[in-house]
Amino acid sequence: MNHYWFEYRPYDRPFKQPLHTHHGWWSNRQGIILRLTSANGQVGWGEIAPIAWFGTETLAQALAFCRSLPSKLAAAAIEHIPASLPACRFGFESALEMMQISTTSITFASPSPHQLGAVHNSYLLPTGEAALHAWQPLVTAGVNTFKWKIGVANLEDELQIFNHLMQKLPADVRLRLDANGGLDYYQAYQWLQTCDRLSGHTATVEFLEQPLSKHQLKEMLQLAERVQTPIALDESVATFEQLEACYTQGWRGMFVIKPALIGSPQQLRNFCQQYCLDLVWSSALETPIAQYFIQHVLIPSIPVVQHRAIGFGVDQWFNDAWTTEGNFEQLWQSLSLTGTIE
Ligand SMILES: [Mg+2]
Repeated sequence: MNHYWFEYRPYDRPFKQPLHTHHGWWSNRQGIILRLTSANGQVGWGEIAPIAWFGTETLAQALAFCRSLPSKLAAAAIEHIPASLPACRFGFESALEMMQISTTSITFASPSPHQLGAVHNSYLLPTGEAALHAWQPLVTAGVNTFKWKIGVANLEDELQIFNHLMQKLPADVRLRLDANGGLDYYQAYQWLQTCDRLSGHTATVEFLEQPLSKHQLKEMLQLAERVQTPIALDESVATFEQLEACYTQGWRGMFVIKPALIGSPQQLRNFCQQYCLDLVWSSALETPIAQYFIQHVLIPSIPVVQHRAIGFGVDQWFNDAWTTEGNFEQLWQSLSLTGTIE
């Protein structure tokens, strides 16, 4: 029977500036780095990066789970991680897959924003009026897809900033609006109508993400019938079980997938191979360890229905040099030196 040596280290990564969403302010990204070592010395890196307000387990639950495991771990223990711990499932299963890849010569050295623009990465703009000035240097560097959080201030003010932003953005830019479930039906309809009206005259709204709460799938199905601007589900499909449920209930629009939150990568692969979903890959603000697996292992293994920018343009949100200077081993070592979050 297969066994692995299991070690884990928590991390605590402050954002340069707190991120404002409909769920409130978020100032530190916390998670857990996993290291599995096989009997013949192969190392597999993984990461547990939960977001409890998004529908995963809490960090405390993930830590409790890691603590409950023996340091000599049976492969079967990984197969039986419960669906109630989706971020743990992702972390352990991806670490097993990463064991097939030699990571010693890989560095995280980030491509410049220009190169990222070339591979179509979507960049997160600051919320509110700050967006009006933040896009320019990124466009100059070659970025052409942005995400902007809405549903934070009142409707009229936001629509006004939105109109302004759309007038300023170059015509070839694609803007993704993300309400994080923070609108009601009327507000969502106002937003979508405004997007429809502007369409063809300004930059393009690629889609409106999660206008209503995850409990309002029926209303979102209705909205999608009434407007041209596409709707993408995000919070509604945070975990694999939710994704399956929305598909079964008839959603055929876009699905935003945050792999670090969804659960088993293999389960996602099987489902996507069977049903060919219109996917938008998105970051859960994980470290380069999970990002490496997602971008180099998982995404290339899933069939593409429609090429869309991937939402991993988030490095500029952190102060540290993990992405630009680090590699797997260095990141791990830095965690033992700087201490843990406990
Ligand atoms: Mg979203």
